[in-house]
Amino acid sequence: MPNMSLKKVPIPEQDPQVRNKNFDEVALGYTEEMAIEEAKRCLNCKHKPCIAGCPVNVQIPEFISLIAEGKFAEAYETIIQTNSLPAVCGRVCPQETQCEQRCVRGIKGEPVAIGRLERFAADWAMKHLEKTYEKTPRNGKKVAVIGSGPSGLSCAGDLIKMGYDVTIFEAFHTAGGVLVYGIPEFRLPKALVQKEIDGLLAQGVEIRTNMVIGKTFTIDELFQEGYSAVFIGSGAGLPNFMNIPGENLNGVYSANEFLTRINLMKAYKNDADTPIKRGKTVAVVGGGNVAMDAARSAIRLGADKVYIVYRRSEKELPARLEEIHHAKEEGIIFKFLTNPIRILGDENGWVTGLECVEMELGEPDASGRRRPVVKEGSQHILEVDTVIISIGTSPNPLIRGTTPDLETNQWGCIVADEQTGQTSKEGVFAGGDAVTGAATVILAMGAGKAAAKAIDEYIKSKG
Ligand code: FAD
Ligand code: SF4
Ligand code: SF4
Repeated sequence: MPNMSLKKVPIPEQDPQVRNKNFDEVALGYTEEMAIEEAKRCLNCKHKPCIAGCPVNVQIPEFISLIAEGKFAEAYETIIQTNSLPAVCGRVCPQETQCEQRCVRGIKGEPVAIGRLERFAADWAMKHLEKTYEKTPRNGKKVAVIGSGPSGLSCAGDLIKMGYDVTIFEAFHTAGGVLVYGIPEFRLPKALVQKEIDGLLAQGVEIRTNMVIGKTFTIDELFQEGYSAVFIGSGAGLPNFMNIPGENLNGVYSANEFLTRINLMKAYKNDADTPIKRGKTVAVVGGGNVAMDAARSAIRLGADKVYIVYRRSEKELPARLEEIHHAKEEGIIFKFLTNPIRILGDENGWVTGLECVEMELGEPDASGRRRPVVKEGSQHILEVDTVIISIGTSPNPLIRGTTPDLETNQWGCIVADEQTGQTSKEGVFAGGDAVTGAATVILAMGAGKAAAKAIDEYIKSKG
């Protein structure tokens, strides 16, 4: 019997007033019974519109019917045919603009909770299935992968299965890219990411950390070392700033630095080597997922008041709906149509406030969004001791600066073929945020997989 409820089966969560003081995961996941009940909401539509909304074409109705039948191991096997990181994607994919947006149950009521079900299957498998890795015979060719984020991991995962010797060169001391240094523990437990990385290591992928390509080696030097092809998955980790007075004051962070100190260096622990300012009143400037993560981390560090300062209206907030909802529940204060113009400091150079103006929405701009214009006489000061800037990131210039024949565009992104990831330089492929600018985990993974296929064809074509 299908479950015709208009609402998704709710997912158990930590209480907002408890969770805003700890870094443990917010959503606790479905039980087997809840997963079966939610899976029964799926109508197993003939034309499967939901699949077209998934960038890696997960066979959604198929895995959901298997969950409905209690065949959890089979459901997991179905998902991993096209998605190698289901525990990650089930948690962080923006499902509301991807698979779930196309779900017919969403026309009248809420769509099927595809992401929650994917997470359930992945978590169930991690708990119950012994993962064994077959080592494919080596073919004697080496491929270098730059960066260990989702694009690099998925590219390496596919290439190792094809028989290549794969080495990932990672600038940080820990592998995982944004999955470990950006997205906080309370949304994506780091142990899950580590399990995926352990899987790659078990299959023979070599990961060399503290290796900054462009400094330790150039791409040309990698070819001299005998690599037949190179995949660049170096992301877009260079923070943008507002260029307003006061950005150099103590207590001003880029969201990337703030989150890296917390996630990677565990600065929230009292015995951590890396210090972080535990602001009492914090303003986070920006409205994307990164801004929500920074604000929700700041409140967990013990802030009394955390503001999100965003120059457009609530409707334009680019963050995932779930993150906005969680941020509100946890007590984050949203200041919409507000734009910072100056950061104020005391005589010792520490932040004391954020001077802002209010905005009104004017005519639509080129993106179709109504352009915010300053409201006369609206200047005011938010008294804060910490300001976190989260207005976007760009690719780091190191690789393009040391690879003159690598074409990049006006935003510093690598120009690469959409289908294959082929760049202007022979044997060099690229994908993920380094090509698209800041985007999503699943798109980065998709690009890594497509490039792995193209790299295989390229190397084979060379004989
Ligand atoms: P990255 O994950 O950025 O990995 C690149 C790796 O390359 C890094 O480890 C970096 O250290 C390394 N590197 C860089 N330069 C070099 C070099 N010269 N030599 C060697 N290594 C190098 N997406 C979602 O889908 N859902 C979300 O909820 C979500 N939340 C986010 C929250 C935050 C805080 C951030 C920052 C991003 C979020 N994103 C989210 C976006 C998503 O994480 C990225 O789109 C995705 O990680 C991009 O993957 P990537 O492999 O291209 O790059
Ligand atoms: Fe949806 Fe992401 Fe899973 Fe695709 S990978 S089905 S978009 S949650
Ligand atoms: Fe199931 Fe929705 Fe996909 Fe139809 S569109 S098969 S109801 S998930």
